[in-house]
Amino acid sequence: MFDRASAVTPGGVNSPVRAFRAVGGTPRFMVSGTGPYLTDADGREYVDLVCSWGPMILGHSHPEVIAAVQEAVSRGTSFGTPGEGEVALAEEIVARIAPVEQVRLVSSGTEATMSAIRLARGFTGRSKVVKFAGCYHGHVDALLAAAGSGLATFGLPDTPGVTGATARDTVVLPYNDLDAVRAAFAAHPGEIACVITEASPGNMGVVPPADGFNAGLKELCAANGALYISDEVMTGFRTSKAGWYGVDGVSPDLMTFGKVMGGGFPAAAFGGRADVMAHLAPAGPVYQAGTLSGNPVATAAGLAQLRLLDDAAYAKIDAVSAELRSLVGDAFTKEGVAHTVSSASNMFSVFFTDEPVRNYDDAKRQEAFRFTAFFHSMLEQGVYLPPSAFESWFVSTAHDERAVERIAAALPAAARAASEATA
Ligand code: PLP
Repeated sequence: MFDRASAVTPGGVNSPVRAFRAVGGTPRFMVSGTGPYLTDADGREYVDLVCSWGPMILGHSHPEVIAAVQEAVSRGTSFGTPGEGEVALAEEIVARIAPVEQVRLVSSGTEATMSAIRLARGFTGRSKVVKFAGCYHGHVDALLAAAGSGLATFGLPDTPGVTGATARDTVVLPYNDLDAVRAAFAAHPGEIACVITEASPGNMGVVPPADGFNAGLKELCAANGALYISDEVMTGFRTSKAGWYGVDGVSPDLMTFGKVMGGGFPAAAFGGRADVMAHLAPAGPVYQAGTLSGNPVATAAGLAQLRLLDDAAYAKIDAVSAELRSLVGDAFTKEGVAHTVSSASNMFSVFFTDEPVRNYDDAKRQEAFRFTAFFHSMLEQGVYLPPSAFESWFVSTAHDERAVERIAAALPAAARAASEATA
C-alpha cells in the first residue's frame, strides 16, 4: 500500500509526520478503529496513543457519535445553506468557553488560525504577528516560521514557498519568555496586530506555559493595543471541559479550535470578543468563507462528541493519563534512561533529557535517537505512538484497564531498547 501511495502522493502520505521519516520504517495503514484500538491492513491490532492527533477523545467508533453521523448523513451531506447543526455546535462552544461570545466555523485548524490572524490584522490595522518558536498553528504561510510539529520532526527551520514579505511580518520569539515579548513590542511600536500562542504547546512535545506566562501575554497585548490569540486547536475540549482556558482562566481576545470539536470530521472554529468578531464578513469588512464550513455531518459528529464530554469523561481521561505517565516514567527510570515525562493536564510526552524543558531549544537538546528505538519496540509490541519525539501522546475515555495493561507490558522492553540505542 505504501508503494502504491508513494507512486501517486508525495512521500506516500497526505500529512508529513505520518510517513515515519523521523523514526524510519514503513507507516502502518489503518483500516479500522474500535475504542482504544486500531487495526492495520495486515490485521495487527494496536493500542492507539495518537487518537488521530487528538480528535478521538472518546476512542474510535463511539456508538453515539457514529449514530449521530448516520442520522445526519441520512438527511444529506452538504447544503451550502445555514443549518441547525452548526448553530447548535456554536452554542455548545459559546456555552463552554466564556471568552467566546461569537464563533465562526471552518474546516481545519489551519483555516482557523489563518482567519484569526487576518481578523486581528483587519481589526487593528496593523501587520505584524508575534509567534513562538516550537508552536505550530497549522500550515499558514505567516505562521510556519520556526514551527513545531512536522517542521520539528524534520528539522526544518522554515519552508520554501513562503515569501520574504510574509515572513518579515512574523516575529518569532522564544517560548515562555515574557521579556522577549516586551522587547518585541518596544522594537515595533504600533505595528503588532496580535500575539498567537498555543494555549499550552503540544507541538514541540508537551511544554506547558510557565506560571503567569499566558496572563503576562494578555497584559502586554492589552497595554500595546494588540490582540491576544490563544490557539486551542489541540487543547480545546481536551485539557478540560473548557480546554486550556478552563485550566488557567486567562481570557484571550480570540481563540481557535479544531480536533476534538469535529468528532473525527473536518470541523474547526475561531471565536472570541463580539466586537472583534463583528469585523468579519458579512457583518464587517474582513472576508472569510468556506464551501463546507459548518458541514451538517461534521457538526453532528462534533456536537455528539462534545455532549458526551462531561466532568466524568475528563476525570477518566485525566486518570488514565496519570497512570500512563507514571508507568512510562518508572520504565525509563528502571533502565537508567535520562528522561522527563512532561505533561499539561492529560496531554503528555517524553523528553529524553533530565534537564528542564521550557522552550523549543530545550526540547531539541533531548536525545531524540532514543525515541526511535523506543517507538519501534512499542510498535512491534502493538502500541501505536506518535512517530516523532516532538508530538504529544493522546488518550481517550476508551483507554480501559486492558489497554493500559497492554501498554504496561510493552514498556520494559521498549525502555531497554531506548537505553541501548546509540546516536
Ligand atoms: N494549531 C495547533 C495547536 C495544532 O496542533 C494544529 C494541528 O496539529 C493546528 C493548529 C492545525 O490544525 P489542522 O491540522 O486541522 O489544520
